[in-house]
Amino acid sequence: MKRNDFLPLAKPYISEDELAAANEVLRSGWWTTGPKVTEFEAALSDYLCEGDPVYAVGLNSCTAALHLALLACGIGKDDEVIVPTWTFAATAHVVEWVGAKAVLCDIEGNSLNIDLKKAEQLITDKTKAIMPVHIAGFPCDMEGIASLAKKYDLKVIEDAAHAIGTEYKGEKIGNFSDVTCFSFYATKNLAMGEGGAAVSKDKEIIEKIRKLGYFGINKEAFKRYEKAGNWRYDIEEMGYKCNLDSVHAAIGIEQLKKLDTLNARRRELAALYKKHLSQKIGFTLDSSEHYHTYHLFPILLPEGVERDVFIQAMKEENIGTSVHFIPLHLHSYYAAKNPHATFETADAIFARIVSIPMFPSMSDEDAHYVIAKVNAFLGE
Ligand SMILES: *Cc1c(COP(=O)(O)O)cnc(C)c1O
Repeated sequence: MKRNDFLPLAKPYISEDELAAANEVLRSGWWTTGPKVTEFEAALSDYLCEGDPVYAVGLNSCTAALHLALLACGIGKDDEVIVPTWTFAATAHVVEWVGAKAVLCDIEGNSLNIDLKKAEQLITDKTKAIMPVHIAGFPCDMEGIASLAKKYDLKVIEDAAHAIGTEYKGEKIGNFSDVTCFSFYATKNLAMGEGGAAVSKDKEIIEKIRKLGYFGINKEAFKRYEKAGNWRYDIEEMGYKCNLDSVHAAIGIEQLKKLDTLNARRRELAALYKKHLSQKIGFTLDSSEHYHTYHLFPILLPEGVERDVFIQAMKEENIGTSVHFIPLHLHSYYAAKNPHATFETADAIFARIVSIPMFPSMSDEDAHYVIAKVNAFLGE
């Protein structure tokens, strides 16, 4: 039987809590950056902290967080930054924005995360940083990255857009590198609509990002004038406009309270998929050593299956799918910039991959519907 309504690939979780929180801010009249943002930052710090404090700054996107993190780490003109080819445009674009070169690296076929052996081969005198991406919420090899960073004196800026709540060997992502950037875009595990954050154990770097995210204005500097009415401020350096606002922060505070429950539900759905989907399908890596948060559920179609035919068949059954991602080296802009590089694993995976619905408000029945239609397509 075909369902009547369309099952989307992803959908934000919304309850009366988020509606009431947003409403309260709207009624309060304080819509932009203010106490609600500070409250969200404190709650995020608390959530991530595994010992030493983690400092956080709320921003209007993960893209902004990544961009400002590069600037705060002093990455700029003529520098090189290693970025996995398997990611969204944001991770590499920000490198280009600061005048550096995004050097694309191949991935591991099982996790879809950056291949560190290949990354090491790409390091030159100009390499200043590496930007791991925890694809679908499965953590990168953080020990391997730390030793590479130490050996070659590299900054590590994590694109953790998929990885809020993800744990590497029992410790949450956000505790490992110079700066970790999260996305709170509508489809991400913690959703605000648009939003993001940069976190670090280094308070100074977070305050630097805060300043760069608001015109280069140092708020601490103008606090000195507070008694005089605090109308003064000082532009200390060039900055941008990336601050988080209170409406989104209020939604984020509610989402953060239930994040662990929502992530646990994603893991239940993933377990259902893995148990019942055809044996012909390939899955990406999971490990009891880590906590995978399943932002996405990519599957590898068997050899010989036409992906576009599969996608069309699912659409006809009212099932949403997508492909995460079209590797950057296959896009014209980055192809031209990396003309001689090869990406064997990414190319092989890209030929077969497709993401199927995964969001916390999906029911078991929804998952079983997907399973039945996928298996039927494969002749089972
Ligand atoms: C969503 C996403 C981003 C960008 O996040 P925004 O908050 O929309 O800027 C960056 N990297 C990856 C891997 C993403 O999936």
